[in-house]
This record gives sequence, structure tokens and C-alpha cells, in this order.
Amino acid sequence: MYSEKADYDKMALALTESIRIEGPSEFSNPYAEQGLFVRISEDNGDSLLYNDIPSQTDMGRGFFGVYLNLADKSLFIEGSRKIAADGLQYKSFFRYDLSQQFRECLNLIWKIALLYLLIVFMIIRKGKKSDIKLFEPLRIMSAQANRLSANNLHSERLNVEGTKNELKDLANVINAMLDRIESAYESQKQFVSNASHELRTPIAVIQGYANLLNRWGSSNPEVLQESIEAIQNESRAMQDLVEKLLLLSRHDRKTLKLNKKNFNMRRVVEDMVKETRLVAQNRVINSPIMEDVFVYGDKQALKQAIRIFIDNAVKYTNDGDEITISCENVNGDCVITVTDTGIGMTREDVEHIFDRFYRSEYVRNKNISGHGLGLSLAKMIIIAHTGRIKVRSQFKKGSSFIVTLPRRKFIRL
Ligand code: ADP
Repeated sequence: MYSEKADYDKMALALTESIRIEGPSEFSNPYAEQGLFVRISEDNGDSLLYNDIPSQTDMGRGFFGVYLNLADKSLFIEGSRKIAADGLQYKSFFRYDLSQQFRECLNLIWKIALLYLLIVFMIIRKGKKSDIKLFEPLRIMSAQANRLSANNLHSERLNVEGTKNELKDLANVINAMLDRIESAYESQKQFVSNASHELRTPIAVIQGYANLLNRWGSSNPEVLQESIEAIQNESRAMQDLVEKLLLLSRHDRKTLKLNKKNFNMRRVVEDMVKETRLVAQNRVINSPIMEDVFVYGDKQALKQAIRIFIDNAVKYTNDGDEITISCENVNGDCVITVTDTGIGMTREDVEHIFDRFYRSEYVRNKNISGHGLGLSLAKMIIIAHTGRIKVRSQFKKGSSFIVTLPRRKFIRL
């Protein structure tokens, strides 16, 4: 019995010593001691074999607790356990002061928090610096864009040197847009200047004849007649010019309205052939093919376009020349052809005849009247009907204008 207790003593001593924390306890807990404590007794609880559990310890039925005091930064843990085996009762109790470790841990948390704040601050500062660097090209671009006006549109472009790829792409896109705006602006300027130029001539002629009338008109019937005819002709030409200008500008402003309906193009072309035979009696007008073909479009506008081709055929042919006008139904598409055996055009002329105010050198030198707007207008009308125009011409041999208006496609639902 005694030797058993001695063994327990030894074992308990070894156990407590190996675990007991050395050094003074800093926390102000009610218990003085810390470590692992053991009490061994016989099962009936009468004879005590070994005990080093402090006397005021409340063993309860076994527990585990963590005691934390934030005010004095103290932390300790304690627990107890009871086991019965082989007729013996073992009670163990432990208590450890972890205040030191707790304080060190708190210190570490503070240090980590400070370090974290420092890193965040540095990242923000660095971010700000790199933001400034990153947005610098944008700032330059916006300053350049601010300087842009109609007067320096041709010279100012965004500088793409040294910018990052994405910004370079953006600057290139803006520059390409500026190029397009510039060319549209230039062509508008050119259009206005050409239009004023074209209007100046008839106004000068009308003024000249009005002066002539003022001076001699009342006394000289010949002057009177000539002046009236000239003024009538010039004002008619001016009216025609102004109407074309208006139509083109309406198209540019996208306010041109088309009143589309289904109609038989054959009737329209036949009427125009009749009219042409009446006004151009010294030309031979042929109309070999006339087929029924229904077109969905603005009848007046399409008539105006076809009239331009026919008027040109009359204007740019000589007495006795032939003009052939046909209307065909090609698988539902409407094909209108106006061919003449007139003055024809060079290859270069054909490339430019649809440009506004373009007139061939040859017709300018021959003083054939015109403003160079008819074909631009005709093209605009045909394209508005999703049609296309083909031109074949040989200088001094004749020309052929072939207009195709596609049949209306119905969508099956
Ligand atoms: P305009 O006839 O008033 O000059 P258009 O736009 O109708 O204006 O025609 C542009 C130019 O195309 C004409 O000046 C002329 O040089 C050329 N052209 C058009 N139709 C013919 C044609 N049938 N034969 C020869 N040249 C033509």
C-alpha cells in the first residue's frame, strides 16, 4: 500500500514537474499556484493516497474554463476531471496563466494591424501616383480635343506617341473620326461654295438683262423680247438648280421623305418616251423592250431620276443621234436602260460623274449648260430604293446608263 502511494507520488511529481510552468504568475487571480494537480484516493473516498490540489480549489463535477480580463490583459485557463478505475479515484485539476502569451499576442496583433495600415497607405499612394501617370495621356488628349475647332480641324490630331496600347487605339479611333468629320466638313464647304458659284452666273445674267431693259427696253422691242426670253431661261435654270440643291441637302439632313407604293414602271417609262419624242424631235428615240414590271417605290422620285438620264442623253447627243430607252422585267427586277450615241465620256469622267458639281472637261469647253448635280441626285434616289446604276461609255461614241431596281422581297412569317 505504502509503496503504491510512493509510486503514485513519483508519477504525479514527474507529471506535474514536466508540465508546470516556471516563473512568477503575473495575473492577479485568486489562486496563487498554477500547473497540473492530482488527487488519488480509494474509491470510497476515505483514504487519500496522494493530493497536491490547492485546498480552496472547487473541483465541481469536472469543467473547463477560460478567464479573460481585458482591463488588465490577463488570461488563464483551468479545468478539472474525475476518473474512477481499479478501485481508485483520480481527480486532476489544471490551471495555467497565459497572460504573458496573451499580451504578446495582443502586441503582435497591434504590430500586424500597424503594418497592414502602412501597406494599405503605401498601396494607395503608389496607386495615386500610377493613376496620375496612367491618366496623363487622357488629360493631354482632352486638352487637345478642347482646342479643336472648325478652323484647326485639319491640323489638330490627338498625339498617340508614348501612350499605352488601349489608349493608342482610342486616340486612333478618335483621329479617324476627326478625319471623317473633316472630310464631311470640307465637302459641305465645297458644296456651299459651288452652289453659290452656280447661282452667281444666272443672277448676273438676270441683272444684266434687267439693266438692259431699264435703259433700252421701253424703246427697243427687240431688246425687250431678248431680255424677257433670257430672264425666263435663266430663272428656269436657277429654279432647277435650287430644287436640286434643296433635294440634296434634304437627303444630307436625312429629311428626304419617300412616298412608296406599288406601280407598273412600264407605264411611267412609256409616258417619258412619248414626252421625249415631243421635246427632242431631232433625235431618234427607240423603245424596243417595254415589259410590265411592278416596282415598290416613290413614283415621282423615280420618274425624276429616269428623267435625268433621258435629259442627259438628249443634252449630250447631236442632231440625228439615237437614244434608246427600255424597261425590262428580269426575274422580277426592273431594269431601265437609257443608251445614246452621243459625245460619250472618258474613263476618268465615268469615275467622277456622280460627284456633286462634276462636269467633264469636254462639256465645259463646249459650253453645254448644266450644273453637274443631276447624276448625284439620280444616284441618291436610286440608292434610296436599294437599286444600282451601271455606266458604260466610250468617248465620242456614246453612253449607256443601266438602272436596276430589285423586286420587293416579302418576308414569310
Ligand atoms: P449636268 O448634266 O448638269 O452637267 P449631271 O450630273 O447630270 O450634270 O452630269 C454630270 C456630267 O456627266 C455631265 O456634265 C457630263 O460630263 C457627264 N454626262 C452625263 N450624262 C452623259 C451622257 N449621256 N453622255 C455624255 N456625258 C454625260
